[in-house]
Amino acid sequence: MKINSPLQAYEYLPKTNCGDCGEPTCMAFASHLIDRSRKLEECPLLLDEGYKENYDTLTGLLAPEIREITIGTGDHAITIGGDDVLYRHKLTFFNKTAYAYDVCDTMDEKELVDRINKIQNFRKFYIGDFLTLDAVAIRCTSDDADQFAHTVRTVTETTELPLVLCSLDAEILAAGLLVAADRRPLIYAATTDNWRDVAQLVLAHHVPVVLSAPNDLDTLKSLALTFASIGITDLVLDPGTFPEKGLRDSFENFLKLRRAGIAGETDIAYPLMAVPMTAWKEFDGVSASYWESVLASIFTVRYGDIMIMHSIEPYSLLPELHIRDTIYTDPRTPVMVDSGVFEIGSPDRRSPVIITTNFALTYYTVESDLSSNAIDCYLCVVNTDGIGVEAAVAGGQLTAAKIKDMFDSAGFDVQEKTDHGTIILPGLAARLQGDVEDVTGLTVMIGPSDSGRIPKWMESKWNC
Ligand code: SF4
Repeated sequence: MKINSPLQAYEYLPKTNCGDCGEPTCMAFASHLIDRSRKLEECPLLLDEGYKENYDTLTGLLAPEIREITIGTGDHAITIGGDDVLYRHKLTFFNKTAYAYDVCDTMDEKELVDRINKIQNFRKFYIGDFLTLDAVAIRCTSDDADQFAHTVRTVTETTELPLVLCSLDAEILAAGLLVAADRRPLIYAATTDNWRDVAQLVLAHHVPVVLSAPNDLDTLKSLALTFASIGITDLVLDPGTFPEKGLRDSFENFLKLRRAGIAGETDIAYPLMAVPMTAWKEFDGVSASYWESVLASIFTVRYGDIMIMHSIEPYSLLPELHIRDTIYTDPRTPVMVDSGVFEIGSPDRRSPVIITTNFALTYYTVESDLSSNAIDCYLCVVNTDGIGVEAAVAGGQLTAAKIKDMFDSAGFDVQEKTDHGTIILPGLAARLQGDVEDVTGLTVMIGPSDSGRIPKWMESKWNC
């Protein structure tokens, strides 16, 4: 059984309202346990011997429907799985899909190290954060255990990213584990042919393992039951990933597995692996990259928890990274930046004073349009609870009073700081013009509705 209401969690808490967890009451703490923003361990009383039974019971009752699995160690470790819902808007998705990019053991040393560095150094700034890649998948293409072990050693010496060791030969996996077991790699894969030997490796090294049965869910379930019966539950399921004609079956298999897992079928409630790089078996060059991106994007949305991919060209990486960022942004928490007055470039007394909201996507778009066009100005960010301009005007989060409050809190006096005493409202907030003039006593101009048009607007309208 799983609980999903604060009242149910509250029953197992000490009910002293002592506040040691930082919450004013046990009920408040219970509601944060349900939305997963707090952990049981943050209630010190619950860790006392007298509450051990309650702690253990709550741990079970609060466990996510889909098992959480950790791959790697230390700061770079990644956790996958852990979801409770089929649709993000019902709660949120936890633990973003992990992207592992492949290297193989037939690469020469320089090629190998260059590719690892490309994987681990990739960074793309997007809405206040960096999009990065998560893991390195080491494929054995030599069929030689020693060569595989040597490659695994080179990878471990070059990066701290988590690893996926890939071979269907248990002896080759064993050679890789001798080098890297202490990094807690994910091993890929146990199949109907090799499962006994792979299970022995998993028991010996305590590492998570992928079970693979392409397009055969009965066999996949049977493998999962067999592994669970011998105490191995850090499992990832690979139902097969096929491009083009096989895509429909692949997609349906992911849906069936996740629906059953969320519905409480614990035998298969494990994270799922997609392997978009199977596109390279059927296509070459740009076509393969295209199909790989298609598969990665589809299974990021429906319900791949970890993927193995090959294409690291930006045109292939960026679509799936942006989709992942969107899907795993918590819909309960607007993405916002601090409010206040920020200098772009080196503004002086004749520079424009531009108003925007603290919705992160709006802020970074406007900031980027201004700085990339070398427009020295004051960018004034109003706290609209992370809501964009048009919706904030409609919903009352962007008002004349809020704009005045923002200037007051920032200690920014437009009349004193500039010669023009003018502020520029976004075009989508034009209807606030009169109110803002009344409340602030400033001259208000209406800018374009799209910040990309600010440079042209400045040329034709700004002559202060
Ligand atoms: S620390 Fe524990 S007992 Fe104290 S208020 Fe928080 S949940 Fe309740």
